Amino acid sequence: MQYVPLGRTGLNVSRLGFGGIPLQRIDRPAARELLKAAHEAGVNYIDTARGYTVSEEWIGRSLQELGLRDAFVLATKCRAVTADEMRAELAASLKALRTDHIELYQFHNPSLRDLEGILAPGGALEALREAQAQGVVGHIGVTAHLAAVFERALAVEAFETIMFPYNIVEQQGADLIARCAAAGKAFIDMKPLAGGAIEDGRLALRYVLANPAVTVSIPGMAAAQELAQNLEAAADPSPLSAQEQKACQAVRDALGTQFCRRCNYCAPCTVGIQIPSAFLFDGYISRYGLEKWARERYATLPVKASACIGCGACETRCPYQLPIRQMLKQVAAHFGE
Ligand code: SF4
Ligand code: SF4
Repeated sequence: MQYVPLGRTGLNVSRLGFGGIPLQRIDRPAARELLKAAHEAGVNYIDTARGYTVSEEWIGRSLQELGLRDAFVLATKCRAVTADEMRAELAASLKALRTDHIELYQFHNPSLRDLEGILAPGGALEALREAQAQGVVGHIGVTAHLAAVFERALAVEAFETIMFPYNIVEQQGADLIARCAAAGKAFIDMKPLAGGAIEDGRLALRYVLANPAVTVSIPGMAAAQELAQNLEAAADPSPLSAQEQKACQAVRDALGTQFCRRCNYCAPCTVGIQIPSAFLFDGYISRYGLEKWARERYATLPVKASACIGCGACETRCPYQLPIRQMLKQVAAHFGE
């Protein structure tokens, strides 16, 4: 395992971090075993969020039971904009994580407007600064999905880390990532597998970790085999081979730019369509030829793509400006409902 400085924080982190989103899909004992295995393999960075339902709670309980709290750099985040909101969210994180300090606290995907509120007098940054002075929060960072927010965050001195999507098919942050490194801020790579759209997890991780401007990548993990695959990729520091580069190009050719990253920011759909699931199942047919598997799962969706009334509410919330209505029409055509 490679360890690198987390920007100028003074912390050293494993380049493979533990993405805590999928812990929501498994039970708590399984989460504990996975965290134990990650620790034994040298992973020392955990990413979670207030918004990931049970994730903070299960990480907190697991680390307490395992006696491993101090073995990890804990990073969490919330959507607070005002100082009062942040005080409440931070208290909730500390309680759920069963700790009296959090190494990295981040603003979770603020819009440009929210970011200005966060930075204004009485904004959430003020509360994190107070917590920092009290030793409750070690360092402050921000996460973003839009390049404009990343660009703005680069100019904010208080932010020691920036998290942004970067992977084989999402290069919109490539220049900003290089500037992040030059500014001494750590770059945390989210969505190394493009939200599950890239099938070959090993190749996906090899690709992002081959970029030295990437400090740590945080693939989500919910199973021992996912951890093992990620560890194998992270253990190989060699540059991408010609064959791997060709495979990356094949992934780009297959996915293009218009694909769903399953972030679920488009929710709630006015009529209850589970938009990312509809796109996921469709992708299993169009990209991977898993027709039967995809049809069985699509059949379990309570509201089908054909129910879309075209209100457009989802499109105003998609950070990737996907033409969701048009894409759902294609899904409905493929599945016949
Ligand atoms: S446009 Fe369709 S998918 Fe989007 S919110 Fe409206 S009904 Fe739901
Ligand atoms: S449609 Fe857009 S907002 Fe919704 S899950 Fe996909 S990428 Fe995210």
